[in-house]
Amino acid sequence: MSERPVVYSASSVSSYQACHLQWWFTYILKEEGVSSEPQRVGIIVHDSAEFMLRELTGWQPSMADIAKLDFYVEAPVADVIDVFRNDILPTYRKPVLIEAEFQLEVNDIPFSGILDAVDQHDVPWGLANILRDLKSTGSRPSPGKYRFNMTGYWMGATDLGYEPDAAQLDWIVRTKTPYYWPEVMEPITEDDIAIFAATLETVAEGVERGNFEPTGLGTWACKSCAYTASCGPYQRYMEVTG
Ligand code: SF4
Repeated sequence: MSERPVVYSASSVSSYQACHLQWWFTYILKEEGVSSEPQRVGIIVHDSAEFMLRELTGWQPSMADIAKLDFYVEAPVADVIDVFRNDILPTYRKPVLIEAEFQLEVNDIPFSGILDAVDQHDVPWGLANILRDLKSTGSRPSPGKYRFNMTGYWMGATDLGYEPDAAQLDWIVRTKTPYYWPEVMEPITEDDIAIFAATLETVAEGVERGNFEPTGLGTWACKSCAYTASCGPYQRYMEVTG
């Protein structure tokens, strides 16, 4: 195949790991598919959080910015947004990067992303940059789940001139009464970066070999896949397994 045709991201790596065919639907065919309810909720919560964070910095939204935001969400999504407003937003001190785009090359493989935020805190020796990422989930997350993503964001923040001193995931657990669950991570190390590079290399090699097998078939990947309706292997699998 042609050399390095793709700019990778944390979500594209995760998609390829979940199912090679899912990656092909998303990044070659560019099919929209059908978003799941948790994905739709995640996007609304994320947009609202970005808006509130920018306001914290004195940003004055334009009419177009306001029009983009759906202010009229109702429970239970409104309850999730309230968790960000009431429990997470007050823990921010000085956001210096918000929804910041970056692009890197890791072992000659292009990798891009948008990191949620870098928040500066006063510490006894000066200022500390805290890399922060907002996630919502249906149940309490196990630690370390997003280390690959956070390694990419860590390198992205460093490339943008704000090398992190620490990293934190801000989880909102969407139970009947949603709640905040912070996960302070061990700082990203050289070992994490080496694992990141090796993972990226493996995915890029699979893509370049044209390996788009339905590797997620019959696993949890199909359950949350946006392409079940148009995926031939999945449809045949369902015919056989009933
Ligand atoms: S439905 Fe299953 S097999 Fe088909 S692309 Fe999605 S994850 Fe892969």
